[in-house]
Amino acid sequence: MAEAAGQFPPGTEGASLCIMLLRPMPIRCTAVLTVLLALAAPAFAQDRGTLNPKPLPPLANPDDPSTPAKALFGRATTPAALPSQSIGGYARGCVAGAEALPIDGDTWQVMRLSRNRNWGHPRLVAFLEKLAADAPRKAGWAGLLVGDMSQPRGGPMLTGHASHQLGLDADIWLTPMPDRRLSRAEREEMSATNVVRPDRRDIDPSVWRPEHLRLIRMVSREHEVARIFVNPAIKRALCREAGSDRGWLTKVRPIYGHNYHFHIRLECPAGDAACHDQDPPPSGDGCGSELDYWFTDAILNPKPRPPGKPRPPMTLAGLPDACRTVLKAR
Ligand SMILES: [Zn+2]
Repeated sequence: MAEAAGQFPPGTEGASLCIMLLRPMPIRCTAVLTVLLALAAPAFAQDRGTLNPKPLPPLANPDDPSTPAKALFGRATTPAALPSQSIGGYARGCVAGAEALPIDGDTWQVMRLSRNRNWGHPRLVAFLEKLAADAPRKAGWAGLLVGDMSQPRGGPMLTGHASHQLGLDADIWLTPMPDRRLSRAEREEMSATNVVRPDRRDIDPSVWRPEHLRLIRMVSREHEVARIFVNPAIKRALCREAGSDRGWLTKVRPIYGHNYHFHIRLECPAGDAACHDQDPPPSGDGCGSELDYWFTDAILNPKPRPPGKPRPPMTLAGLPDACRTVLKAR
């Protein structure tokens, strides 16, 4: 699947697209070259990481204004030692003073550690820890397997996501946490669960469970949550199974992919004046014609399009000025 906001119809969530590509991400805490060599092939969240990532070479001229911002933020392996703040928009911004979600908690485990993407605004870290604590009791969900959050300083990524730049987005696997600690190798190699049927028109009943709805509903009811992104087939199942209590469905937005994980997006934290919220999602449960659109032939089986001219990558000039400070901070 191409990462092209232009594929999205008006009013959908193109800028939020969260496609994950198979490229190893920076490893944590190495003293020398701490960034990894990116591979070329695109793939998805369920794709494997590696225990033996190779370092990315340093940039020859990082101050060249034409340097893609993702090449700069993709090489940042530690957070900016500044007061915590999300700056800019979800697909055009960065985060100062990010914190790491610890890789293990009683009811969560971070996956694909080689990506070094378990960073976020402290509000996101606190939110995920509370969510993980509540999930067993409130949703019957044993614990969270946490996928990508943000890079240590947020910003655009060399691979995968258009958003996840502010430290306010997190991907949660649709696989419940097993009742044991996963090994490092398992965290790189284990696959998430695809809950969508091969024809992409509905969930796969052999793996979809009532707890999936309970977990997503629980997340959506949290007032800090701005949106949740799921595959259209998942939204269809949620619409069918929600019963009469439907208010929480408003924030659950259909999007390409997101059949192995769902994506939580928090609102801008109060007081972060440079953080730009999205407009709220349209009112209503989003279960009518808006959802039907996703199951039309044009969307499920799009005609191949001639390759267009690739858009030049965003440079630092395309980000808020404060993101330069974030990038340069110690
Ligand atoms: Zn995501």
